[in-house]
Amino acid sequence: MTRALFLKLSQSAWLRELMESSSLARRLNRRFIAGTTLAEEVAACEELAREGIWSTMDHLGENVASLKDAEAVRDAYLEALYAIAHPGLPATISLKLTALGLDLSEDAAIAHLRMLAGKAKEIGSRVEVDMEDSRYTETTIRIVELVGRETGVIRVAIQAYLYRTPADIARLNQAGVMVRLCKGAYIEPPTAAMPKKSDVDAAYLKLGKLLLDEGTYPALGTHDPAMIEGLLAHVRVRGVAADRFEFEMLHGVRRDLQRDLRNRGYRIRVYVPYGAQWYRYFMRRLAERPANVWFLVKNLFR
Ligand SMILES: Cc1cc2nc3c(=O)[nH]c(=O)nc-3n(C[C@H](O)[C@H](O)[C@H](O)COP(=O)(O)OP(=O)(O)OC[C@H]3O[C@@H](n4cnc5c(N)ncnc54)[C@H](O)[C@@H]3O)c2cc1C
Repeated sequence: MTRALFLKLSQSAWLRELMESSSLARRLNRRFIAGTTLAEEVAACEELAREGIWSTMDHLGENVASLKDAEAVRDAYLEALYAIAHPGLPATISLKLTALGLDLSEDAAIAHLRMLAGKAKEIGSRVEVDMEDSRYTETTIRIVELVGRETGVIRVAIQAYLYRTPADIARLNQAGVMVRLCKGAYIEPPTAAMPKKSDVDAAYLKLGKLLLDEGTYPALGTHDPAMIEGLLAHVRVRGVAADRFEFEMLHGVRRDLQRDLRNRGYRIRVYVPYGAQWYRYFMRRLAERPANVWFLVKNLFR
């Protein structure tokens, strides 16, 4: 119920405007967001790199209103790739296709993704494509299949809660496209996604094992110790080498687990968001764990 409420509020345009323009609200989001500028983002990723933790840079924003805005997003990511290349950070970029203009022109979104993937390849990095709500699943998979086959540097987020996901993973494995497996963060109708958490968890474990067996350099995106240990048991049984997959977690979430995995010799990458359009991302994080609200408010007045 609370989860659904936060996800509903995340869609409110006036609340978004109010929050994103308030300096007090900006102070609330510090736990989850590196800052508003690329310099702050680079500083956060450098700090992680010093600890042996890799990163993926997310320039916040989704569903742009014009093709000009989509070009500005593409240019922001080109700058991020430049910052990754000089002097050399162990980082990739993460983006949403609706931030590259997918709602307005599929061709434009594909052209921007191609350009970014080409640049990422040139500097030895990668483009991670986030998965948005299920209205975008089929189009996103079609686009990443196309650009992924062409460039070999695309990884796409796939949501374990969707009933269609086993078929999508088989399709992406066949195309050699990398997958980041996550549970799923949006409100979905019960016809599209499993409503029960226990079913999502069971699906996550099953799909994670499938990716470890047959996927192309998968990322296991979760903070759930039960998922992590379940998949590591599979890694040991199958003898999967530690450099054949990565764990991925979100900036500000379970830092203890991030360091524990690094200490145990596993690859761990942290998803680090930055930018002025933080409201919808922030509300999805609150929806995942409503107790975060009290934690953040308490910290604000400390
Ligand atoms: C790297 C990465 C990329 C992602 N990309 C996408 C994407 O493209 N599309 C998409 O739909 N979803 C994405 N997600 C979100 C994902 O779908 C889940 O909503 C989110 O990760 C919570 O699921 P969980 O696996 O951590 O397990 P849960 O069962 O939700 O949580 C397990 C434990 O993790 C901790 N935890 C989880 N979330 C939080 C939080 N917000 N704050 C504090 N503690 C928390 C708590 O200790 C909790 O008990 C991504 C997640 C990660 C880690």
